[in-house]
Amino acid sequence: MPGNPNETKLVNFAMANSTRRKIINFLANGYRNTGEIEEIIGKKTLDFHLKVLQQAGLIDLEEETVKLSEYGKIFLKNKTGQNEEKTADFSQAKPVEIAKIRQLSPCIADSSRLRVSANMIPPPGGILKLLEPLFPRSNYSDRKDSLIIQKGEIITTIYGSGKVSIRMIKNEDEAKEVLESLKTIINEAIAKGVAPAPREKVRVDLMEIYEYLPQTNCRKCSEQGCYSFAIKLMSRQVTLDRCVLLKEPEYANNQEHLQILTAYI
Ligand code: SF4
Repeated sequence: MPGNPNETKLVNFAMANSTRRKIINFLANGYRNTGEIEEIIGKKTLDFHLKVLQQAGLIDLEEETVKLSEYGKIFLKNKTGQNEEKTADFSQAKPVEIAKIRQLSPCIADSSRLRVSANMIPPPGGILKLLEPLFPRSNYSDRKDSLIIQKGEIITTIYGSGKVSIRMIKNEDEAKEVLESLKTIINEAIAKGVAPAPREKVRVDLMEIYEYLPQTNCRKCSEQGCYSFAIKLMSRQVTLDRCVLLKEPEYANNQEHLQILTAYI
């Protein structure tokens, strides 16, 4: 069972990846064969992910059968316990207000659209992560303590500190509408007093991914073009950071959209 710092590092590394977390959750209900897991995560990286989980001591692998190890079961149970604690916190949450818009400035990616800053009071803090299921396309980042929400062209980011930033807004009225809707959705959930249930992910399709790629076919990613890159992204054979152009300021908005969308592959 992992105990020393090196072993803990292996567990942290294994669980830092969403595909491997998906496998661990899939094994929560018992044994699975590798074919069943392959249907969920694809064939290309199956062996690699299973090996990482096995090295971390989280799973046992016997021929084609995969199951949680004893340590894996304890690990998962502890995680679930932590989630339950957070659910209890949610019942203490207070309704939020969104203070006046503090700033309106042109978006870097598209100067015809606006970027808006506002404040959420009280700051969502620990319940921010629990709000993720409320929005069909959203992505919570532990590292940044932020929840990014995508709706059409508009990207809203809420930070645990209470800062709210909205991009690709047409005008102040639209900003007010988005903020009002955000407040209503969050307060309705708080009024129920229980954290929203984890939702089924809305799957993203290939063309949606392609639409937000730069579509220059520059091949700097070593692929035949953006469409080929999108196909490989869908099958997890490449990661977003391979697209060199997305790192440029003019594609900042596309990159943010893609960061959300790729969480739904
Ligand atoms: S680097 Fe980006 S823009 Fe260039 S071909 Fe690849 S995906 Fe397209």
